[in-house]
Amino acid sequence: MSWKSQLDDLEATGLRRTLRSLSGAQGPYVKLDGRPVLLLCSNNYLGLATHPLVIEALCRATVRYGAGSGGSRLISGSMDSHHQLEERLAAFKGTQRALLFNSGYAANCGILQGLFGEGDVIFSDALNHASIIDGCRLSRAATRIYPHGDVQALEVLLKAEAPRRRGRWLIVTDGVFSMDGDLAPLPQLVELKERFDCLLMVDDAHGTGVLGRGGRGSGEHLDCLEHIDLHMGTLGKALGVTGAYLAGSTDTVELLINRARSFVFSTSLPPGVAAAAEAALEIVTAGEGEALRRRLQYNRQSLTAVLNAGGVAVPAAPTPIVPIAVGAPQPTMEASRRLLEQGYFIQGIRPPTVPAGSCRLRATIMANHEPQDLEAAGRAVLKTLAGVAE
Ligand SMILES: *Cc1c(COP(=O)(O)O)cnc(C)c1O
Repeated sequence: MSWKSQLDDLEATGLRRTLRSLSGAQGPYVKLDGRPVLLLCSNNYLGLATHPLVIEALCRATVRYGAGSGGSRLISGSMDSHHQLEERLAAFKGTQRALLFNSGYAANCGILQGLFGEGDVIFSDALNHASIIDGCRLSRAATRIYPHGDVQALEVLLKAEAPRRRGRWLIVTDGVFSMDGDLAPLPQLVELKERFDCLLMVDDAHGTGVLGRGGRGSGEHLDCLEHIDLHMGTLGKALGVTGAYLAGSTDTVELLINRARSFVFSTSLPPGVAAAAEAALEIVTAGEGEALRRRLQYNRQSLTAVLNAGGVAVPAAPTPIVPIAVGAPQPTMEASRRLLEQGYFIQGIRPPTVPAGSCRLRATIMANHEPQDLEAAGRAVLKTLAGVAE
């Protein structure tokens, strides 16, 4: 099949994606095609991408160390700002060490490929992020998928696998699931991992900075942070910058430095980015972070209360992600388009990001949204959904 006909197929089934161009910073409002729209699909949950201290740290370190790192970490690209941030991240998660990666995608691929291999078994939640799925493939370990959040089904799989056990076992899960905004049943997974002698890896891309009293993520929120063996998190969402990390034991970090291909064979993060992430982390762990998290929760309520009152039930979760179910791709994208016309930028989500038939509008909340803007957005969603259903 030609590339053109593949594109035509995507178009015909309502699955073709295209890029937009935003001008201006990731604030509550963003300029799209020259017009300000309420931004309801940014991962900049705490507004730190535009925080003056974060920007200042980025500028200062850039002036001092230059724009780029000049190499991979193992050659010339391992700078003070990388090491300093890694120490801060290890302290943040309460682990011996931490290691930076250039993105969450690169981290999941590198961690799973670097630490697991043939003879090992990875038990993975059915709704885990695509980067975990790809990391499982790269690792060559056997992968067993358990139905989303279903600890009973996972237990059955673990029992079935037991007689054949050879290598290492890992349970891997998103802490906050990116498309539904729900939490993994971490305490129950900890119970299973202890009973079956597995490791537990949590991808807290959406939980880091947002959940827990100190912003330490889903593990802190569910009171089991110290039972997680491999903490993966990103710097590009609530921390407002870019990049990712693994926090774990000295041995895992040292082995990844040697084995993780996405770490070894890639230019390291710009030093300014590392310094900016450190400044963001400082805000997240301080009183200001707590205030931003409270604001975020309040803002989530402002939107969900309007939706629920209007008969569009959205799941209750303490996360910034609000999934609004539609179903088929065409009405989902039509609703997204009509909302944009009214000044509300809410992404429609289709396969392969979510299973067929579960297309949705996915709204994400920021701490610096105004509650009345979110209420207005909720009313616009209700009206628009009623319109596309006709
Ligand atoms: C966003 C995300 C990633 C990828 O992180 P990037 O830094 O954007 O590459 C990985 N896992 C989950 C659960 C995510 O939501």
